[in-house]
Amino acid sequence: MNYLRLAVTDRCNLRCFYCMPEHGIDWLSRKELMSWEEMMRLCSIMVKSGIEKIRLTGGEPFARKNFMEFLAELAQLEGLEEITLTTNGVLTAPYIPELKKLGIKSVNLSMDSLDRNRFFSITRRDELPAVLDTMHELLRHNIAVKINAVVMEGKNTEDIIPLAELTKDLPVSVRYIEEMPFNGHEGYGGLSWDYIRILDTLKSHYPDITKITDPLYSTSYNYNIPGHKGNVGIIAAYTRSFCGTCNRIRVTPQGDMRTCLYGNSVLNVKDLLRNGYDDKAVQEEIINAIQQRAKDGHEAERLRMATGITESMATIGG
Ligand code: SAM
Repeated sequence: MNYLRLAVTDRCNLRCFYCMPEHGIDWLSRKELMSWEEMMRLCSIMVKSGIEKIRLTGGEPFARKNFMEFLAELAQLEGLEEITLTTNGVLTAPYIPELKKLGIKSVNLSMDSLDRNRFFSITRRDELPAVLDTMHELLRHNIAVKINAVVMEGKNTEDIIPLAELTKDLPVSVRYIEEMPFNGHEGYGGLSWDYIRILDTLKSHYPDITKITDPLYSTSYNYNIPGHKGNVGIIAAYTRSFCGTCNRIRVTPQGDMRTCLYGNSVLNVKDLLRNGYDDKAVQEEIINAIQQRAKDGHEAERLRMATGITESMATIGG
């Protein structure tokens, strides 16, 4: 377990229908949120405990005030080998030179469609030009770009091939993601585009598509299309076929720690920090909670509260 995904806010400037209702969710109050100082202390304890990589996500990380100041401080943390970000790219472009200076090497950019109308119908905001601008600026600064696209029946299956075509001339990695039930309300219609169907669609358009070696701990099955500069990947996020190599710990904006996206919170680290626990005691609680991790995402889901999954992904971080 060497990878922390920290959601720094639940707030977001998009309203992706598969993530939250149009009116948003019950946003956390400032008091419920971990402060930047608390997050910094937590990251420091985690890094001392063996975390090597931290991904900052949300909600939309750039939507929280003073995010760049936090990032600059985090970049100084001794022992932390890599910081990455997941962003929707709407507010991101002006910060890219600073991201480069801080040593950010890779950014995950969510972009479910290359068609402005479809993008609007999915995100409920007309922001595709800003996201594309962010993608080009990241590449111009030699920051690796992974594009996240959730594949959804009746919404963006027409985008599967155009997104793969992006990899022809651009060194980006496009990752198609199975839709998960974290949509902020009851009523997940079931998965109609699983990784096999997505792969079949790619194979029928690109018969020469070839499997490439997946990086260690990768959640995506990765492929190259001959002649393309970038590559494509599929994340079986609902099928959950990669749990055996999971190295992730998640912490939500209110400090709930999860050892599996599909499971319950196993510990509230903010409460420990606010209740006077010293670093060593916090570390012990974290390690204790990790020892009890479910075998895989299916077991974690069975063990969670009797209620089904109704929370928004914005409260967990993706
Ligand atoms: N706001 C940032 C962004 O849009 O990338 C970071 C947070 S967002 C919750 C992280 C990722 O989770 C995004 O790529 C988003 O598409 C994905 N996501 C959100 N809800 C999802 C769902 N129900 N199924 C699959 N992926 C989802």
